[in-house]
Amino acid sequence: MRAVVCVEPGVLEYKEFEKPEPKAGEVLVKIKSIGVCGTDIHAFGGNQPFFEYPRVLGHELAGVVEKVGEGVDLASGKSVYIIPYISCGTCIACRNDKGNCCTNIEVIGVHRDGGMCEYICVPVKYVVHTEGLSFNDLAVVECFSIGAHAVRRAEIKETDTVLVMGSGPIGIGAIQFSQMSGAKVLVSDIDQAKTKFCLENYGVDGTVNALGDVTQQLSELTNGEFPTVIIDCTGNVKAMESAITNLAHGGKIVYVSVVKANICFNDPEFHKRETTLLGSRNATKEDFENVVNGLKDGTLKSNGFITHTAQFSKMVESFETWTKPGSGVIKAVIEMDDA
Ligand SMILES: [Zn+2]
Ligand SMILES: [Zn+2]
Repeated sequence: MRAVVCVEPGVLEYKEFEKPEPKAGEVLVKIKSIGVCGTDIHAFGGNQPFFEYPRVLGHELAGVVEKVGEGVDLASGKSVYIIPYISCGTCIACRNDKGNCCTNIEVIGVHRDGGMCEYICVPVKYVVHTEGLSFNDLAVVECFSIGAHAVRRAEIKETDTVLVMGSGPIGIGAIQFSQMSGAKVLVSDIDQAKTKFCLENYGVDGTVNALGDVTQQLSELTNGEFPTVIIDCTGNVKAMESAITNLAHGGKIVYVSVVKANICFNDPEFHKRETTLLGSRNATKEDFENVVNGLKDGTLKSNGFITHTAQFSKMVESFETWTKPGSGVIKAVIEMDDA
């Protein structure tokens, strides 16, 4: 089978590999589409410090079951999405049902070879059924699942006012799940075209220009009470730090972003609010299932994300142009030539 290997930073090459065989408990998935995300772009650029090369990238994977290993009761031809977070099942986090933050986590396409190839084998518990989902839907499943997990962490209620900072695909996942909980939802971004997109397509209750006076704008939007939940999807230290002072008393902060930096805050500001500070890492099978079901029944919308596509046979040249600044990529998707 053909695979695209990131041989070293900046170099992608087609290589031939043996087609894998599913072991007991595994499924062999014929890949149909591969979403490209920031992780892939950073790995290609060489700015992922723990990344080892050569590596087959790609962790946003949709396909069909071609063959199953011993003990797997799943029909060939079923459409599936692969949950890319492989957990050990035995560590402290796994024993507490939190495989999403397993101490030995292996993310497909990051810590082990990924899905920029024709076939991949995974244990059957890492697939969700996606019959009826469109190409647009499949492109948002992982990002929306990460957003869904953050909302679940915060246990959002109807009476909450949620500020989602950052309006990329993860932020929009968080917006929609917060809305499903009945909360009022505000969104902030430095890019006003993106907040406008959220207003027009996702019905948020208010937008904040992150380049302006955020505290002032939030005060006006909440009658001086401020958001009771802030979900950060920016990857920006200043934005993350601002959450501490822009939060309602008694509120919660969820950091979905991860930045290679220290986050500093003033303890009296943190203390007087009795702040709940939560991390949110990856997503669980439950989150993936919630997203897939929401897309199937139409409670989640997936339109407007895919900005670029390429056929697998032409992806090497396209991929490089997607990594250039100013490429305007929100979500690029690689389609198998025979998909
Ligand atoms: Zn991703
Ligand atoms: Zn584990």
